[in-house]
Amino acid sequence: MTDQDLIAQFLRTVPSAPDGGTVIEVCEISWPHPHEPEGTWVTVTELPAGASQERIDRQISKILRNRKYFRVCQECGERQPRGWMHNARICQSCAERNHGVVF
Ligand SMILES: [Zn+2]
Repeated sequence: MTDQDLIAQFLRTVPSAPDGGTVIEVCEISWPHPHEPEGTWVTVTELPAGASQERIDRQISKILRNRKYFRVCQECGERQPRGWMHNARICQSCAERNHGVVF
């Protein structure tokens, strides 16, 4: 998944009425049941009214590089939402493909 895909799927901006600011939310994935991921939108940061699109984009790329939310798999080199990581190093697809882990 490219960073653009990740942004499209796991990040969103929400206007924070009534002050006209912008809230940036990230979709955190948890697994309440095996095979049934659940996404929860959580607020990461809020920008004041009048924040430029450039500033918003900068915040978004900062969030993408934040290990609290996204990690780069050391086997396939792809950035993944943390909820899709098998452990701190590798993603679930690599665990399944390369290590015979069954989910
Ligand atoms: Zn991987």
